[in-house]
Amino acid sequence: MSAAGVNVKCPYCGAEYSVPRSVTYATCPYCGTTFKLNNPGEKVDHYLFKVFIDDQRAFSLVKSFSSQQVGAEKSVVSEASFTSSKLFYIPIYLYEVKVKALCRDGSSDFHGGESYNQYVVAAVDELPITLPRGYGFPARGREYFKPSISRNYVYLQPLKDPTAVFEELKRGDINEALSEAREACPSSNIELVDESRYVGLAHYPFWEIEYSYRNEVFKAVVDASDGTIVYLEYPLSMKNSFKALVGVFTGAITASLIGAMIATQNSTALIGGIASFITFTPALYISLSAFLKRKGRYTYNPKEEAEFLPTR
Ligand SMILES: [Zn+2]
Repeated sequence: MSAAGVNVKCPYCGAEYSVPRSVTYATCPYCGTTFKLNNPGEKVDHYLFKVFIDDQRAFSLVKSFSSQQVGAEKSVVSEASFTSSKLFYIPIYLYEVKVKALCRDGSSDFHGGESYNQYVVAAVDELPITLPRGYGFPARGREYFKPSISRNYVYLQPLKDPTAVFEELKRGDINEALSEAREACPSSNIELVDESRYVGLAHYPFWEIEYSYRNEVFKAVVDASDGTIVYLEYPLSMKNSFKALVGVFTGAITASLIGAMIATQNSTALIGGIASFITFTPALYISLSAFLKRKGRYTYNPKEEAEFLPTR
């Protein structure tokens, strides 16, 4: 047994291998069987989301998306060059929550409230790539797990306890169903029927793409199943960032001059001029550093996307 890990024996093929001590489930790198570390006999459904987007396709999505960002360098489409790609498999838990609250009134029982939701939760807290919080993993293209995945790509073992996560998730739905029923039948007994289930563990693919543009390195993270860009660094246009810089400078100088002009009539107003200049400095600092680095950043926002793109 190594200091970092614990040796396990696959209950299906008998192969022995080492996993980090903190994992909840272990996946055999030889036959692909997934089992619970503290209960190897318990069957676990393990799914895999298919890669529909290869790294070159992901790179071209990154280029065109970069060029559409405000202030971005348009020539990124023709001048950026692909540096490297890495495929990450992020472990997720899939749940289906289905709760009903029945009104029991002695002779006549009736349906008082219910809640139905499907949930996907990342099975690790720390992700090696930048993923937005609350990212909705699309449920298309699910298949059973293949063992070659864990050998050839960056494959993360799930760490969180799926049962604890489940209890936490269900709470909101249970409260919703119960309060609906309390309104529907304030004087009856309410019985909760919980038909929720833990669907299983899945691994979801993301590309980390690295590209270069005029000797600078940029990174992006792309959903390898549906092509959504979840994180992006892109080159800012020299012209646009220079314009912004000049604008802020001009504003700051004008404000100081007005302050100074007033100061000739009123000596205390000189302080006003300095104060005006200072109030501009955060904006000045931001445009100056954007100008020097010339690197813009974009992170997928699940809330915004849900409003604008309801049919992802
Ligand atoms: Zn095995």
